[in-house]
Amino acid sequence: MVYDSNNIFARILRGELPAKKVYEDDAVLAFNDIAPKAPVHVLVIPKKPYVSMDDFARESGPEEVGVFFKTVGEIARKLGLADNGYRLILNIGGHGGQEVPHIHVHILGGRPIGPMVVER
Ligand code: AMP
Repeated sequence: MVYDSNNIFARILRGELPAKKVYEDDAVLAFNDIAPKAPVHVLVIPKKPYVSMDDFARESGPEEVGVFFKTVGEIARKLGLADNGYRLILNIGGHGGQEVPHIHVHILGGRPIGPMVVER
């Protein structure tokens, strides 16, 4: 899938749109979700232009994937979520409900998050 360099998160990475950053290093940016679904709702993204988890898993190496997810865990701990627990959500493509075509992990916490999926 071709990466759309005008997606919202690409624009945040270029500094064209504001974001409430909670963590940043050379490879990763984390910022508050604009429409939080929990007391803590942070999005974590690799800075490199991957469309989705499918793209990330195919195109990056195990070291890059490993460092990314280790960083996600460290951010959650820094946010004070590790003791009570939290949820990670990674939506992929149409059936996954992915709206922004730059891979992002949702960190949700600060209260019990509830059922894993809504049944219907
Ligand atoms: P997804 O459905 O997994 O693609 O999630 C996209 C998320 O991006 C949603 O939770 C939105 O609220 C969030 N979002 C959209 N625009 C912005 C923005 N400008 N800053 C922060 N979060 C955003």
